[in-house]
Amino acid sequence: MLADKSISEIARAFRDKEFSSEDLVKECLANIEKYNPQINAFITKIDKDIVLSEARQKDRQGFAGKSLLFGIPYVLKDSYVTRGIMTTAASNVLKNYLPQYDATVYCKLKETGAILLGKMNMDAWGHGGSSENTDFSPVHNPWDLTRVAGGSSGGPAAAIAARMCLFAIGEDTGGSIRNPAAWCNITGLKVSYGRVSRYGCIAYASSFDTVGPMAKSAEDCAIILETIAGHDMYDGTSSKNEVPRYSQKLATPIKNVTVGMPEEFFQKGLDREIKKAIETAVEKLQKLGVKSKVISLPMIEYGIPVYYLIGPSETSSNLARYDGIRYGETRSNFTGETMRRIMIGTYALSAGYYDAYYKKAQKARTLFIREYEKALNECDVILMPVNPTPPTKIGELINDPVQNLLADIYTVSQNPVGVPSLAIPCGFTKSGLPIGMQLVGKMFAEEKLLQVGYAYQQMNSWHNQKPKLTP
Ligand code: GLN
Repeated sequence: MLADKSISEIARAFRDKEFSSEDLVKECLANIEKYNPQINAFITKIDKDIVLSEARQKDRQGFAGKSLLFGIPYVLKDSYVTRGIMTTAASNVLKNYLPQYDATVYCKLKETGAILLGKMNMDAWGHGGSSENTDFSPVHNPWDLTRVAGGSSGGPAAAIAARMCLFAIGEDTGGSIRNPAAWCNITGLKVSYGRVSRYGCIAYASSFDTVGPMAKSAEDCAIILETIAGHDMYDGTSSKNEVPRYSQKLATPIKNVTVGMPEEFFQKGLDREIKKAIETAVEKLQKLGVKSKVISLPMIEYGIPVYYLIGPSETSSNLARYDGIRYGETRSNFTGETMRRIMIGTYALSAGYYDAYYKKAQKARTLFIREYEKALNECDVILMPVNPTPPTKIGELINDPVQNLLADIYTVSQNPVGVPSLAIPCGFTKSGLPIGMQLVGKMFAEEKLLQVGYAYQQMNSWHNQKPKLTP
């Protein structure tokens, strides 16, 4: 399949006229037609004739001197506004919303000539970790259709795994890129806060939200990141730090890199097969000269309470504009999960409770920042699980709200701190379900994470495995 290839292989093939952008787009469209009815990854599909004519136009223009993403089909999580293209955040509240403007990340990809195939299913507003909290029916995991794809960027992850597109832009507030990446056997990067502009990304929790790439490999993520990263005058929190040419430095040797394994993360609650797969991955990395050591992140047990106080507080403020008074939609269009979050957040911010909850959580957040700083002075990269379990059965998490929150234990502490994290495939359970691990680095150390991920993927073919789907 053409879509099994890496972005740089495809760009080379386009240039050498081995196959065309039209061929690749046709293949993706065929896969969407065959597999999407079972997976439900898409909320909006761009009209076939439009995408095919875009591909033909790229083929006519030629590929010499163009970006590696020129003519490559991709998808956006439906949390990015796209002018004139329906944008829902997977909520009935926005089911008729046609934005007046484009998100910066979409503008940048349009400029490089990547071809948008659709807007993807997700947990509404980013609220969830299983893509079941959607008003457009759950996303099914391509590796086992009775299970969830993870969330909240479940649609994008499932679409890449099923070769319906080459890459996607997800959004990660507390794991939403990493969690579905791990459960669908793809690679996903949660960037440092401010690395990529959030302009036009429908806000969940503004001080946690990050915009990042999802693809098959660390190499593909590097190519995408160097296109979408950078300062944006429309997002005051976007960083002015220079954007490295991530893809040029991937092959930097990683010997002498020290990987820290937080002891708290490998104890009770972690599935045995996941633990084993990560330990095996560390042994592999050691063969490349990586040193590993045990570190400690004792604050981690407060990760869930801190995240689930600040996140809902910010979302209650961000979603207040949809209270039904301003735009006429009824607030009963929110799902139970989202209403719960709005209520928790409003409560935590209200007079009398602010000091006890919100302010305390913000103080704990400062302690988290210090703790990660300390840990990342003892090692270059922290390695940890993404999910405590393999993908759950459809219905399991959505019907158990507390378990639903606890499942985020490994991914929610990085966003309050702001540090980047790369999720990569590292094996399968005996029953054939994907396992992922994440590499966390210092602020703006995406380059290092991608190098370690790339080196690991040179020695393994986990990330090239794909699900066996039948139409
Ligand atoms: N599962 C987490 C939550 O529900 C993370 C979501 C996200 O990153 N958007 O808040």
